[in-house]
Amino acid sequence: MKKLIVTVALTGNVPTKKMNPNLPVTADEIAADVRRCRDAGAVLFHVHARDAEQKPTLDVNVYKQNVRRIKELAPEVIVQLSTGARAGKDWEERAKPVRLLPEMGSFTTGSNNLPGIVYENSPAFMEYLAGVYQETGVKPEIEVFETGMINNAVFLEKKGFIAPPLHFDFVLGAPGSMPGTLKNLQFLSESIPAGSTWSVAGIGKAEIPLSAAAIVMGGHVRVGLEDNLYLPDGSPASNPLLVEKIVRIAGEIGREIASPDEARLLLGLNPIYKDRVLSML
Ligand code: ZN
Repeated sequence: MKKLIVTVALTGNVPTKKMNPNLPVTADEIAADVRRCRDAGAVLFHVHARDAEQKPTLDVNVYKQNVRRIKELAPEVIVQLSTGARAGKDWEERAKPVRLLPEMGSFTTGSNNLPGIVYENSPAFMEYLAGVYQETGVKPEIEVFETGMINNAVFLEKKGFIAPPLHFDFVLGAPGSMPGTLKNLQFLSESIPAGSTWSVAGIGKAEIPLSAAAIVMGGHVRVGLEDNLYLPDGSPASNPLLVEKIVRIAGEIGREIASPDEARLLLGLNPIYKDRVLSML
């Protein structure tokens, strides 16, 4: 079986320090968490930005500070910036993190409900954002909350906007969207084009069980406080504790952990783009 890529969704848009004091929100906190998670075996980091009041923001300056600090403390890791809509709905604003030329960005290829909102990604917006990915050469991670989002990604690939191999992340168990069941994970993982890679982001209580399933199935894993604030025993989680748990489970099963460069190969990342983001900071 191929080596396991461990991704960490460090902060997200919804969690607060009140919900879990271990949530990293400042550039220093985020980078320190990246370093600890890297030391524990994680290689890919899904990064959001928070303003001085800890509210979600798409301010590129905050993204820049976060990336600069991460690259200082853990230069070899893969950085993936979020293009999610909770921090703002303007198309150009949402695309700005991709224009900073990180190695990867997130890309939700469809609309769905999330607590309190419609997570809107219209066909026109998807073509626009896909165009930005095409233009910049940044690799999208396709965030799949519902089955149809796979079809939309394949459509964008056929139109030449995004290049294979596609990398999918199945976000399962978010209230309002596809439940975090093994059946759904199996179905989605069998519904993507041959040669694609995939990870699972189980939300809440689904995080650790679906991660364990993905490790056995040959997929990859995303954990982190964006998706889940608790350890299975109900105590507050932290990003490093979640990574340690995944690495331990993988070790018991006999699945080796990918280094950052091994993850780049598995994901088909272009090595010449590895440090391109540095020129933008
Ligand atoms: Zn996110």
